[in-house]
Amino acid sequence: MDDNKGAPDTLLVTAGRRAEWTGAPGSSLHVVNPPVWRASTHLYPDMASLRAGAANADGAFYYGRRGAPSQWALAEALTQLEPGAAENGGGTMLYPSGLAAIAGAVLTVLRPRDVLLMTDNAYEPSRALARLLADFGMETRWFAPTDLAAFEAAICERTRAVLLESPGSLTMEVADIPAFTAAARARGLISILDNTWAGPLGFAALAKGADISVMSLTKHVGGHSDLMLGSATAGAQWYQGLRRQAHLMGNVVSPDDAVLGLRGLRTMGLRLERSAASALTLAQWLAGRGEVAQVLCPMLPGAPGHDLWRRDFTGGCGLFSFVLRGGSSVARDALIDALRHFGIGYSWGGFESLAVPIDPAPLRSVTPWPLPGADPADRFGIRLSIGLEDPADLIADLEGGLTAWRKG
Ligand SMILES: *Cc1c(COP(=O)(O)O)cnc(C)c1O
Repeated sequence: MDDNKGAPDTLLVTAGRRAEWTGAPGSSLHVVNPPVWRASTHLYPDMASLRAGAANADGAFYYGRRGAPSQWALAEALTQLEPGAAENGGGTMLYPSGLAAIAGAVLTVLRPRDVLLMTDNAYEPSRALARLLADFGMETRWFAPTDLAAFEAAICERTRAVLLESPGSLTMEVADIPAFTAAARARGLISILDNTWAGPLGFAALAKGADISVMSLTKHVGGHSDLMLGSATAGAQWYQGLRRQAHLMGNVVSPDDAVLGLRGLRTMGLRLERSAASALTLAQWLAGRGEVAQVLCPMLPGAPGHDLWRRDFTGGCGLFSFVLRGGSSVARDALIDALRHFGIGYSWGGFESLAVPIDPAPLRSVTPWPLPGADPADRFGIRLSIGLEDPADLIADLEGGLTAWRKG
């Protein structure tokens, strides 16, 4: 790890660009980006080197499953961007998807008979992991996303770890992560945070108490809706465990995807700034509309979670939700179908805007939807991922969508 320092925007440009990964051996000239190092076999000059090559070190040529410079450069860049990881002998493991990263982190820390506490707003496939964990004799229990007392009360002697997600990627609750992770640590629990929404530029996961920070790189790091990747970053203690688990499981990501991830990373700061600003503009506009019961956007003053967001976050992104005032599922479909600039599809964090309906009720175990205090008629939500289009076009689009909703 070179100790390349700088502000986050500078690190986005420089991180992971070691000369030995961007130039030919023995030449002082090099290119800007690490090339795609396609490799299964790594060749050794002689038997002595082959034997020495089995050294269990990061960044050493060995065999394709341990990666090559394309993957090492992305992992190193993510480590450098995560405050606290690089200085403490930590590191980043890459996975073929965000979900694989979550599964890898959870299986690193749990042992048979352990209990995992999971926030009730967790991403649906994270919740479904409970079924896999059950096969391994591990139990999953849920807690209310923002209720610290309920979380502490749910800890039992078999509880080993907690999986947090803040903001929740459908319903956008913001948890007091410093308080949750401090409570977890005091009881000997390991904290895993799904930090996909904010990423390291928006929320310093490890510095705020998480032991392992997980991201779907498919979203903001990729940023162009053309690759699937995940990462888990941790300090020395848990990085070694993640690494061991990933190697035993045979995890490796393709060098093409790693290079696309690196390319996306270079412009992530600018893209996030623009999509967060546009999302806030749209959230403000929606909050002023009579058809809208609630805007779930932590960046919006007065919205749920805004105070914690202001206290703990250094950035946002383009993802937020809103709930319609009454109406039907059919009317909501009419709204989405009327949109011209929003694609209809899963995922988020790309350069193009997307809209999907959200129906969280069946995806919650211990907290209700609609949220407490809401009118039960106000239950049809829509999640928007705001891209890089002109926000005026997106507002005009939503205006047309709301007209279709009133007719629907
Ligand atoms: C998309 C997503 C994931 C999973 O990422 P994939 O790369 O799609 O596997 C995990 N957590 C959150 C919050 C997500 O939105």
